[in-house]
Amino acid sequence: MKKLLMGNEAMAHAALEAGVRVVAGYPGTPSSEIVETVARLHAAGSAKGVHVEWSTNEKVALELLFGASLAGARGLFTCKQMGLNVASDALMSLNYVSVRGGLVLVVADDPGPISSQTEQDTRRFAAFAKVPVLDPATPEQAFDMVKVAFDLSERFHTPVIVRPTTRVDHASAFFEVAEQTEALPVPDEGFERDVSKWVIFPRRAFQAHGEINERLRAMAGAFSQEEPFASFNESFAMPQGQFDAATFGIVAGGISAAYAREALRMVAQRAEQAGLALPACRFMQVGTPYPFPHEAMARFSVGLSDVLVIEELDYVLEDELVKFAGRTHAAFNVHGKLTGDARDRGENDVDDIAARIERFLGLSGRLRLRRREMIERGEVVQGIEYPEADSLPVRPPVLCPGCPHRGSFYAVKQALRKTPAVLCGDIGCYTLGNAQPLDAVDTCLCMGAGVTMAQGFSVADPDKKAVAFIGDSTFFASGMTGLANAAYNGHDITVMVLDNATTAMTGSQPHPGTGQTLMGPKNEPLSIEGVLAANGFLHVYHANPLDKDASIVAAKAAIAFEGPSAVIFESPCIQLITPDAPVSVDAQKCTGCKKCITEIGCPGISFDPHAAGPNSGSRGQAVIDTALCNGCDLCVQVCPFKAIECPVSPEEGGQDA
Ligand code: SF4
Ligand code: SF4
Repeated sequence: MKKLLMGNEAMAHAALEAGVRVVAGYPGTPSSEIVETVARLHAAGSAKGVHVEWSTNEKVALELLFGASLAGARGLFTCKQMGLNVASDALMSLNYVSVRGGLVLVVADDPGPISSQTEQDTRRFAAFAKVPVLDPATPEQAFDMVKVAFDLSERFHTPVIVRPTTRVDHASAFFEVAEQTEALPVPDEGFERDVSKWVIFPRRAFQAHGEINERLRAMAGAFSQEEPFASFNESFAMPQGQFDAATFGIVAGGISAAYAREALRMVAQRAEQAGLALPACRFMQVGTPYPFPHEAMARFSVGLSDVLVIEELDYVLEDELVKFAGRTHAAFNVHGKLTGDARDRGENDVDDIAARIERFLGLSGRLRLRRREMIERGEVVQGIEYPEADSLPVRPPVLCPGCPHRGSFYAVKQALRKTPAVLCGDIGCYTLGNAQPLDAVDTCLCMGAGVTMAQGFSVADPDKKAVAFIGDSTFFASGMTGLANAAYNGHDITVMVLDNATTAMTGSQPHPGTGQTLMGPKNEPLSIEGVLAANGFLHVYHANPLDKDASIVAAKAAIAFEGPSAVIFESPCIQLITPDAPVSVDAQKCTGCKKCITEIGCPGISFDPHAAGPNSGSRGQAVIDTALCNGCDLCVQVCPFKAIECPVSPEEGGQDA
């Protein structure tokens, strides 16, 4: 069956075709669609025998999969790069224990970063954990790599990381995929007890470290010599057939390898149009960065004088090239991030790489000169220069119109008024509570850190009220141990749980508080209040954040309590509900005071400086964008002049519902 698939969808198909039996992860952009695709195919009945779940966090997911692996099942773990930090405790140790059923970790990196706190590089993490990593340049390669990763895992009894980056995850291509897949059966005997093997003790760890070193050496050899790994480290020469003549080399990894191939073609084309000879050069993609394929690099680098390394995030390949050159006394210089010849952070792009390749090959000056000559002769120069990219307008991220978090932040700020406070944010849509005019987030670190950092402030800066905001999904993922700590140590903090009944930022995935699972049946939702109570939070208030006054009352009561207290703000994410009809501004009443804009900052409200009315004079008036307004009514409650009105229902005598 031929299908147009996103890279993430393709990797899900690849794992199912490889017979994966258990799939688990925690949502995180850019990785989330892998688990969702498996769930969709399972629900459609085309992925037989698979168990798929969103686990409560990444550590839970990986440990669950390790259990399944020891029982003989193939397992797929997915997360974004920071999710591996959460799962790292398990990963570091399970590599020593070694796996039984193939265990593949798809860890999606986020250069930019586009939606992350860090630009960490999972290739580094793989080397740190001594786990092999495959680094796809395209969605097609990601599909191939996931499939072979299961065999690699079982052959060497090692977990295997596949590390796509955002553009590989989210780019689409056509794939031939199976209409039906069936999970490979678990061996009849299931888990076989063997304490000398599966129980990690210091003596066993010492022995296992040697086994890990040995298998890494063997894998490095396989990556250089054996298919399909050798083709992941493919090299070629430009112009064709000039491999031996080349003294320049270009080495690239991940999506940058795809960019660099295209850039090299553009440079060759430009040189041809300008009548210049392209200096002979070699190109190599390193698709298996760890363990590094030394033999393949030895074949590639013989006779080179200079190597340019193109990669995103860290200088992993550059480091390997420097080590390789030192160890083999090779006579080539390595150019890259460390020498200022490549971008030291963020994403690469084809135009930038092409310009760097031109400089590296010594073509830039000659191309410029040739262009000037052609202009003087009145010739067409199109194609010899790269078009300037149009700079896109910057659009700052904001909470959606009608987002219930807006009401929660507003209520807490109103409740605090002039009370000195530290507002500890967390990871989720609600980090956007930092934006003006809400300005309600002073810190943000990592999942669950709002609850725990607040405790640090309560101890070190007790004159300020320590308030933590945490979303419902983050609450179950990483908040609960922090709650227990607050109650155990008697910290004076107030936790504002922003319960919008979903994991909104990553695309509305369910969590334990929803009871909805990916396997179909709905379980009894876990009660946030029950968890708070079980962890010693006995002063807990409830409020609908779209009810301004009640929310302020609840926030005031919780903040006034000395000791662990909480407010659960409950209102579903607007992506889950049918929006209400938009509100409207009564031009007869609006004074143009702008309070509706400056207090809550909903993108559905703007200001028309030319609008006039009896109370606004020439100041202008507020305007509701009916395409954006979700009718949450928060601005109706904020306007001091009752100038914003809800639509009148037909029952009340109006025209529209
Ligand atoms: S009712 Fe007001 S605050 Fe709510 S979405 Fe509409 S414009 Fe925004
Ligand atoms: S709608 Fe109300 S709050 Fe907004 S500018 Fe007019 S009077 Fe002020």
